[in-house]
Amino acid sequence: MFPETYYTYIKMDKTSEETNHKTSEETNHKPSEETNGTSDNCISHTQADQSDWALQMAQDANGKRMGYLEWPEYFMSICFLSAMRSKDPVTQVGACIVNDDRKIVGIGYNGMPLGCSDDKLPWRKESSNPLETKYMYVCHAEMNAIMNKNSADVKGCTIYVALFPCNECAKLIIQSGIRKVVYVSDKHHLKNSTIASKRLLQMAGVECCQFKPPRRRVVIDFDVINCTSMTQLPDSPPRASAAPSAGTAAAASSEGEGDTGRLLEAARRDLSQLITNGDVTGATAAGTEIADVL
Ligand SMILES: [Zn+2]
Repeated sequence: MFPETYYTYIKMDKTSEETNHKTSEETNHKPSEETNGTSDNCISHTQADQSDWALQMAQDANGKRMGYLEWPEYFMSICFLSAMRSKDPVTQVGACIVNDDRKIVGIGYNGMPLGCSDDKLPWRKESSNPLETKYMYVCHAEMNAIMNKNSADVKGCTIYVALFPCNECAKLIIQSGIRKVVYVSDKHHLKNSTIASKRLLQMAGVECCQFKPPRRRVVIDFDVINCTSMTQLPDSPPRASAAPSAGTAAAASSEGEGDTGRLLEAARRDLSQLITNGDVTGATAAGTEIADVL
């Protein structure tokens, strides 16, 4: 359904399991561009943010933005976003089920069953009393995504999930008719629950592949909508010079004459260039200058 470049396909044998683990390790320990050889995390993060922004806003020859999320990134990002709903202090996992039409038909994250209070059941991993651990109660993300489905069934669908499914979830995946599992991490590959899961999935013919994120971070910034360039409306027409005292700049701009108008146009060009370059700080300052003139 999607370009294979985003996936590392695994085979359910020991050799490929080892290979797969190696791939996972390499991915997790891939040197981050954010560090950039500096110990100043604040500075490097700012540089990374600007780099991210520039990549996101890059355009092709027709002006189409190139930094958009590809479908697999989009679905996996939804998994990670959903996981942020989880109250589990250690492991937050999200899952997203997608049909062949690229429609999302189910989303879930790990949490307590419906009607069972998050505040009354235990979230701890260890206790002398097993009944006081989360394992007895938590529904995994895959289960919730399947149970939350908004379609008649999930037969033939793909499930995106951050962590390779455990054996209990594998049973649900198989029984629900899901035909493909896309995951990010296989960090529990040595656990019996994962080994059993792979055994079941292989026997049932469910395809499993590891997602290789083309970018390391997908940032949600609620302030981005207020950026000057973030509008679907055409540029505003020049203001009429009805109020000379207050509209000097606009009038000069509309006529293309006068120092203020020229400065305004130059500032707009600068702003456009700064946005293209991903200079968020510069763009904000330039936007403020234009607002002051107007
Ligand atoms: Zn599970």
